[in-house]
Amino acid sequence: MFCLLQKSVKKYNYLARLAAQTLILAGVGAGLPAWSAGEAVVSTSHPLATQAGIAVLKAGGNAIDAAAAIQFALNVVEPQSSGIGGGAFLLVHLAGSGETLVLDARETAPAAATPDQFAARGFRENSISGLAVGVPGTLAGFQEAQQRWGRQTLTQVLQPAIALARDGFAVTPYLAQALRSPRAALQPETRALFRHPDGRPLQVGDWLRQPDLARTFTLIATQGPAAFYQGAMAQAIVTAQQRAGPDPASVGRMTLEDLAHYRPVVRKPLVGHYRGATILTMPPPSSGGVALLQSLAALERFPLGSVPDWQALSPNAVHVTIEALRLAMADRARWVGDPAATAVPLDQLLSGTMLAARSRMIDPHHRLSLPLAPEAVEGPHTTHFTVVDRDGNVVSCTSTVENLWGSGILVPGYGFLLNNELTDFNRVPQAGPGDPGANDVRPGMRPRSSMAPTLVLREEGGWFAYGSPGGPTIISSVLEMTQDLLDDRLPGMEAVRLPRYAVLDAAGSTIVEPAVPEGLVAALKESGDRLQRSERPIGSVQLVGEDPVTHDRWGVADPRRDGMAIRF
Ligand code: GLU
Repeated sequence: MFCLLQKSVKKYNYLARLAAQTLILAGVGAGLPAWSAGEAVVSTSHPLATQAGIAVLKAGGNAIDAAAAIQFALNVVEPQSSGIGGGAFLLVHLAGSGETLVLDARETAPAAATPDQFAARGFRENSISGLAVGVPGTLAGFQEAQQRWGRQTLTQVLQPAIALARDGFAVTPYLAQALRSPRAALQPETRALFRHPDGRPLQVGDWLRQPDLARTFTLIATQGPAAFYQGAMAQAIVTAQQRAGPDPASVGRMTLEDLAHYRPVVRKPLVGHYRGATILTMPPPSSGGVALLQSLAALERFPLGSVPDWQALSPNAVHVTIEALRLAMADRARWVGDPAATAVPLDQLLSGTMLAARSRMIDPHHRLSLPLAPEAVEGPHTTHFTVVDRDGNVVSCTSTVENLWGSGILVPGYGFLLNNELTDFNRVPQAGPGDPGANDVRPGMRPRSSMAPTLVLREEGGWFAYGSPGGPTIISSVLEMTQDLLDDRLPGMEAVRLPRYAVLDAAGSTIVEPAVPEGLVAALKESGDRLQRSERPIGSVQLVGEDPVTHDRWGVADPRRDGMAIRF
């Protein structure tokens, strides 16, 4: 009765559309030679970041060191998506102990933040104001990860990024597209960096040098993260986020004390099961892992992926997936926030009995009537990368400055952008009778995220590690990857390339990529689903896996961006 969207759309030739955009695929697909066991694989959304990771692995670093080098390189080559002015979540699997841990380097609200600080303005106004800038966590987070689990020093892993920022690199298509955003040119420093003297944004192939950023990384390499969190650079961050934006009341409130007090947090991952596989994923303050596990549990009773005639066009599987995601999004909106600020009722949210009851609410043919309002749509921000080293240590990391170009505020003289992550808090406080206001702005707390770096241990052995950018669409992208890999048993490359759809909120507002066939969209609309074509690609999944039988390792970079996967 059910078959998956992914199978049903094969006949619509999406592979041809996407194939041209693929830069490199590391050894996945028919006809490629088998890989020897224990190879290292790096998959990121930019070839130069992938090469930075490979260089560190070749020099004796492990996956954690490589991840740090990738992150700093991405700050240079994909400055619109992540960097030391932002935050990140790392899922780290340690081969030696078999443990999987989470490093939470999410931004925090300043001590002077208040629940109503965003209420008087709309999302866009808030998002380019200093008030939206959270205390950055990325640098402290990667340093913590390296100190705990790495083999190399921060100084070593910064070298590829220093060289890239100093010597420059050619602008890639995804960066060129991002550079067309007005947010890349909100202040004289960003215009000088990212535009030609005549005001045109840099184009594909133009050379981008970032000498200020090279000096910043060199300072950090010689003095350590204190050079960022204290002293002159910290003062420059504080001054930069005091930009008001259009409204003088939206001046940022971060102080030197906020920066000096930033600490990453090591957490345990959420663990769930789906069709025999074990899923390890992100806990709060991300909602991504909770929603992923809830949706999978609600879907387990449906025979997804079991229809031999995979070309049959059945909207039912997509419909039940949309419904499962809607139910999860309703919980996300109400209950998930920073666990330091609110008691997130994980036991209830993930209880088998509750989820079974939830699942029974889903009607395969009709839309559930849930009286909930749509939420704001988000764009293609953020980045995901995945690494495994030869020993089998794995890092799956989603990293962000929130919107494309973050707040648009570049720290003058230091060359990095500041995030606008605090807009992930509730814009208008929700706390009141019957509502914990789980994601209301609170001093020192982390805004709720959707980021969901994930590791799947397959029942038959072997594993997959992946994640995606895309705000709330992350949850759908990661869920669909899980379905493609576990229900459909698709090869990684096919799973990543398949057209995606994404449920944005509990009201069921759903966007679909252009390659999803019109007939399917029409059939889903008949079931009551609220679908809209997405103008932009959804997500960017960087996937690494290990074969259960041969233990060969492979990686895929999403053709939706400029990515590259390499193994050696
Ligand atoms: N701020 C988002 C989150 O933490 C990430 C940004 C994005 O992916 O668009 O969920």
